[in-house]
Amino acid sequence: MKASRNCIRIVGALFLFLVSCSTVPITGRTQLDLIPGSTMLAMSFQEYNEFLKSHKLSTNPEQTQMVKRVGERIQRAVEQYFAQNQSSHELDGYGWEFNLVESDEVNAWCMSGGKVVVYTGILAITQNEAGLATVMGHEIAHAVAKHGNERMSQGLLAQMGGTALSVALAQKPQQTRGLWMTAFGLGAEVGVLLPYSRLQETEADHLGLIFMAMAGYDPNKAVDFWQRMSEKKGAKSPPEFLSTHPTDETRIRKIKALLPEAMQYYARPR
Ligand SMILES: [Zn+2]
Repeated sequence: MKASRNCIRIVGALFLFLVSCSTVPITGRTQLDLIPGSTMLAMSFQEYNEFLKSHKLSTNPEQTQMVKRVGERIQRAVEQYFAQNQSSHELDGYGWEFNLVESDEVNAWCMSGGKVVVYTGILAITQNEAGLATVMGHEIAHAVAKHGNERMSQGLLAQMGGTALSVALAQKPQQTRGLWMTAFGLGAEVGVLLPYSRLQETEADHLGLIFMAMAGYDPNKAVDFWQRMSEKKGAKSPPEFLSTHPTDETRIRKIKALLPEAMQYYARPR
């Protein structure tokens, strides 16, 4: 009896996997996507508002404006890219927002639907607009490549055997919330920081470089940022951003290899 129930669970999970895949833009990779887009957006907007309510926005007008300016330029680049590739519908329901939060944490993230937070603590490492564009382009790339959905789906499958999200939300709200925070790089709030997979990182670097270049920022500056980040590796308490984005020579070498492609976008008239 137990064996057949397990069998049903496995077949169920396999079925979910087969019917629940989507394709990453630009790279064309097939990914697991168990959660309907509309549910992701609703959860995102709710969590984002909760986060803003419980955190202090920066009172520095220049830095706040800089975050919004860089964010809006990357937003336009993303919209342009998707329009050129006949996939603007992928951005339906987006509610772009770019906020700078007062915090010593070295971190930044973008939830589904274009909800971005930059922590003041990372500005010492981004140093300039191109450095900030590197971080924001990369985080926005994770969002438009639906890496959060993918991580959340993987987490649901691993921890709840593919239980439907609606059921999981109703029965285990704390656990689902923890999965969400972990999936979007806010793991510090729930005590677990999960690094993005190497594949997701390479994708986000690739897309991020193209978006920053289309937004008018020199993609070569991304190498400088990641080198500054990698210097923090030996620090007593390594930054949150470094825990979710392990930085090493391989990453920097891959970024350098992507520069000629990104430079073609930088050179195009805007
Ligand atoms: Zn990343």
